Amino acid sequence: MADTQPRRPVARRPGARRHVALLHTGGTLGMVRDAEGAYAPRAGALASALARLPELDDPRLPSVRLEESDELLDSSDVRPGDWQRIADRVAAAFRGDGGSPPADGVVVLHGTDTMAYSASALAFLLQGLPGPVVLTGSQLPLVEVRSDGRDNLITSLLLAATPGWAEVAVYLGGGLLRGCRSTKVSTSGFDAFASPNLPPLAEVGVDVAWRHDLLRPPAGGPLRVGRLADVGVVALRLFPGITADTLRNVLRDPVRGLVLETYGSGNAPSRDAELLGVLRAAIERGVVVVNVTQCLRGGVQMGAYAAGRALAEAGVVSGGDLTAEAALAKLLVLLSRGDDPRTVAAAMARDLAGELTPAAPA
Ligand code: ASP
Repeated sequence: MADTQPRRPVARRPGARRHVALLHTGGTLGMVRDAEGAYAPRAGALASALARLPELDDPRLPSVRLEESDELLDSSDVRPGDWQRIADRVAAAFRGDGGSPPADGVVVLHGTDTMAYSASALAFLLQGLPGPVVLTGSQLPLVEVRSDGRDNLITSLLLAATPGWAEVAVYLGGGLLRGCRSTKVSTSGFDAFASPNLPPLAEVGVDVAWRHDLLRPPAGGPLRVGRLADVGVVALRLFPGITADTLRNVLRDPVRGLVLETYGSGNAPSRDAELLGVLRAAIERGVVVVNVTQCLRGGVQMGAYAAGRALAEAGVVSGGDLTAEAALAKLLVLLSRGDDPRTVAAAMARDLAGELTPAAPA
């Protein structure tokens, strides 16, 4: 039998049907073909497709309230301002603003292209979550016969209605992943996401195999939503032949944070004194530079090679085993608080939402 109940004790009225808010922000799941035959979001298309899904009336599913964004986006168009809007809507759903019952969980329909960024941003913006937030989408729209959207949607609703856990997760193709650990790894597979440095929170097959030891429990305190400011944060993937000039251009004012995607265990060209000088000068004027690896698995250890140590000596902060997506979102959220660069750099190394494996004490 499917194990859909984490074993933590939870207080709720026996027999009460749970309620999930379904926030539609865009993405393939709700898309239809445009005049040229390409998939694009269209207002109202998802509501019509859902009306043809009788499963949604099944009492074994939670009651669902669909809320569609004013502007539906291909997630390639999502910007930090959209992260803020989604975070505010999630919080409003949990509070029960607007006359609807307070949600027990929230499902966010979102395009897969930048889902890992949005999931990471929500994980850092939403503090004190009372229940789960599951981001889902699909590789084929719901209107297509072979769509993966139906299972992703229905399973996400069930997972979000399951009591006893409270964090931002991504669900697609059988894997429930911690959002701030997830990354898109396939343009074509239904299991489009991976969580390279943390096992799935649950694997969904005939049974739901929960990892109770990994799940983050509901917070006792109030739900708070961080505010994003207009802060310059950029990401740069190192490549053989990168010049000091390129880096200088990337680091121009008003950039305040850089996610540097380095080689292997956190290495960069160490024989180019000018390149290292540009980094050092930026850090001295208050730019926070975070080192994450281009590798899918594992993390940064700047002491392992001289080529990594040079970065540490220049003042670059280790991002440990953060994904590049989580590093960018975390840096933006932290810099938005207006803290000084040293405080932000120290917080980057701390685990805030289960996004990184803390370094073993030396
Ligand atoms: N381009 C789409 C998007 O991210 C892809 C998808 O939804 O899977 O919105």
